[in-house]
Amino acid sequence: MVGLVRDAEKIARLRRQLLAWYACNRRDLPWRRSRDPYAIWVSEIMLQQTRVAVVVERYQTFLARFPTLLSLAAASEQDVLALWSGLGYYRRARMMLKAARFIAEQRLTGLPASSAALRKLPGIGVYTAAAIASIAFGEAVAVVDGNVERVLCRLEGWEFAEGASESALKREIHLLAAQLLDPAQPGDFNQATMELGATVCLPRNPRCLVCPLAADCRTKGEHATAPRAPMLSREGAHALSIRTRRAGQQVLLEQRPSSLTVMPGLWQLPELKQTEVPGHLLRMTVRHAIMQVNYYVRIRNVYEDELKSLTVAGGARRWVSLAEAAAMALTGLTRKVLTRAHLFEVRPREPLNESQS
Ligand code: SF4
Repeated sequence: MVGLVRDAEKIARLRRQLLAWYACNRRDLPWRRSRDPYAIWVSEIMLQQTRVAVVVERYQTFLARFPTLLSLAAASEQDVLALWSGLGYYRRARMMLKAARFIAEQRLTGLPASSAALRKLPGIGVYTAAAIASIAFGEAVAVVDGNVERVLCRLEGWEFAEGASESALKREIHLLAAQLLDPAQPGDFNQATMELGATVCLPRNPRCLVCPLAADCRTKGEHATAPRAPMLSREGAHALSIRTRRAGQQVLLEQRPSSLTVMPGLWQLPELKQTEVPGHLLRMTVRHAIMQVNYYVRIRNVYEDELKSLTVAGGARRWVSLAEAAAMALTGLTRKVLTRAHLFEVRPREPLNESQS
């Protein structure tokens, strides 16, 4: 592989072109209006594996409820998970809470200002530490995410690799990213590269005609992308049990035991023993994607007196009002079902994917 290390002129040109393009074309996203390290941290964690459109809405709600690191540190896990409901990858929220509590217990004034110190906090890896440190504190450290990898590989004509070659390729990509990084504007430069990957150097159809780096790009769209892992299919079934009381309708929810590795502590519709549901009892079928698995879930109307015989014995169960349910830490699937059944007043946006952790 031949990097750009010896070509200082080319590096300077790429920096200039990318930053100029970013200044004119960057999307106006709420976290880009802030230099508050806490706000940038929240956005970076939310943006991992979740679409920008979903994050825009959730980010503002989250910061309205927990405007500072100390307010987050004082929150209960259920309150944090409730705000995270539907974003998926719930472990991210738990780790953020853990890190906020750690900082509060240590009586620190806020997030540490270096990527090395940030990496010591729960849930903050190399990527997130570099993003926070460069954007909020101006540290000259390169960020490499999937978008950056794709842009740099195409720029240099590096092919997708597997096994040991993949590790070598990743090392090259990190080296190149560090060489290209503009030390005078590391935050903007990192965001510019990620933005280019997200809006121009797209995975399937790169928009090379409007790319600021096209003149120096070795592939210009003629580049093999990494093959996508095929989606798997699974079936499941849940009970939708609604009863009416004087104060209004209530829905039966069960809490997933905290001992589970998959979405522990979240609330869901009770799981059915049988995935087959007779047609006249079928309320709806929902497709729900969790990482590389498409779940096809049947929702069956179940009366109160049938619950024991039809459902799998699960965690703690509670009848809750629909208003209370809407504010609880629900699984994404449960929120989707209750929304589609018109039991929630406001239809929240749904993410494409939800992780199980
Ligand atoms: S010219 Fe095309 S392939 Fe090359 S970096 Fe730009 S968008 Fe990507």
